[in-house]
Amino acid sequence: MKRSRTALVTGSSSGIGLATAKVLAASGVQVMLHGLEEQAIGEPIAQALQQEFGVQTRYFCADLATPDAVKQLVNATVTQLGALDILVNNAGIQYTAATQDFPVHKWDQVLAVNLSAAFHATRLALPAMEQAGWGRIINIASVHGLVGSANKAAYCAAKHGLVGLTKVVALEQAANGVTANAICPGWTDTPILNHQIQVFAEEHGVSIDEAKLGLLHSKTPYPSLIDPASIGAMIVFLCSDAAAAITGAALPIDGAWTAQ
Ligand code: NAD
Repeated sequence: MKRSRTALVTGSSSGIGLATAKVLAASGVQVMLHGLEEQAIGEPIAQALQQEFGVQTRYFCADLATPDAVKQLVNATVTQLGALDILVNNAGIQYTAATQDFPVHKWDQVLAVNLSAAFHATRLALPAMEQAGWGRIINIASVHGLVGSANKAAYCAAKHGLVGLTKVVALEQAANGVTANAICPGWTDTPILNHQIQVFAEEHGVSIDEAKLGLLHSKTPYPSLIDPASIGAMIVFLCSDAAAAITGAALPIDGAWTAQ
């Protein structure tokens, strides 16, 4: 019998990562969930998926700002679930400030979590994928991997970097059955937006719901924030045999933000 695939989804304690972990588990994939939240908070999230979908799931808490922590997470996935076939580099943070005022430690932190962690996880996961002749690397970049926005120097630099990393890995692995793609979401309904929504509401004197629409319509006429589950569904498709030739792509899911 063919063994189940195993996925590591970084930053899957909430938002896009959690929605992705759910759809992967629903499609029969074993999942290592991960987040900054301590084991006591993360483990029940993983156990709930295991009960609902009947696949093995685990949770590992790690701050991915250091290469050592990324190594521990990758090792824990292989040790606890037996393999690492699908790597979803999703953990990410945002910080907004004008470039000349951007705190240096925030620049370093955003680059470390949003870009370097993906590099470290990828380099550690690749040898086994290459040997198996099958693997999927999916990097959750952003529309900000394709275009810029004011006050997002570190985030835009990291996400553009992630798209570049994706292309290089895709070229290196194209003959080996290992694909690498970036997904570039627009405004998606997750906690990462809370601060920006709050600031918009205060600056414009509007309600939180009005601020959500205000932020959205500052970039695209799309009528609502994007459902994180739709990004998970794209990831499940990228893991299918039908997507074997989709590699090196940066796929927008952005309500036409980057169509302009
Ligand atoms: P979220 O805040 O719900 O999730 C972020 C996840 O990253 C959490 O699980 C958190 O624990 C983890 N994380 C944060 N800092 C970490 C650290 N130092 N080490 C390890 N893990 C850490 O936000 P989200 O919107 O689901 O974000 C997921 C990804 O999607 C991010 O890379 C983000 O940049 C990207 N993205 C989000 C949007 C959006 O509008 N929500 C749009 C484009 C791209």
